[in-house]
Amino acid sequence: MSGRSADRHQPASGETAAAIDLLTPPPDRHLAFVALGANLDDPLHQVRAAGDALATLADSRLLRLSSLYRTAPVGIRGQPDFINAVAALHTGLPPLSLLETLFAVERRFGRRREFHHSPRTLDLDLLLYDQQIIDSPRLRVPHPRMHLRAFVLVPLLEIAPGCLIPGRGSAAAWLPAVGRQHIQRLTL
Ligand code: ADP
Ligand code: MG
Repeated sequence: MSGRSADRHQPASGETAAAIDLLTPPPDRHLAFVALGANLDDPLHQVRAAGDALATLADSRLLRLSSLYRTAPVGIRGQPDFINAVAALHTGLPPLSLLETLFAVERRFGRRREFHHSPRTLDLDLLLYDQQIIDSPRLRVPHPRMHLRAFVLVPLLEIAPGCLIPGRGSAAAWLPAVGRQHIQRLTL
């Protein structure tokens, strides 16, 4: 998948990977991880286009975008498969503003909130915001179920192998617990 300003793990020219951890935000910026998911209306296209939308998000910079993954739906039987990915952003937006901005992107993609776990053209979830723990009615970060979902952990670890989930420890340590969830990395 090609996000316009996503570097896909490559250090910027003139820098060495050893010298700079590219995920470390500059002063006044924050590192946020966002999960992308779709299972309606050509989900491959929806997630690709959502990646492009994240590359132009207000006051933010798309750093990395994972591969696309195909996963079986969780929660309700008989739904189409999902396409999932995870993005890493540097943002100047505070957490709730970032969430509102993500919801605005969802709406642009025709998201209808019919019922919890209903099929969707695009779902954007805020997974992590720096190492903050936020527990408000509208926003819970870390996303409360992220460590239980292969479709989050696998793409997250692809772009941030050392990722820590506040309160839960290393994201990689949760992988065995989701080993039975079917997930397929797409190579297109
Ligand atoms: P889900 O993503 O769990 O299938 P929705 O996308 O419909 O469900 O989100 C339901 C509600 O979850 C939203 O109203 C939103 O305010 C809330 N929410 C709480 N924490 C988060 C988060 N970290 N990311 C996205 N939405 C969140
Ligand atoms: Mg959501």
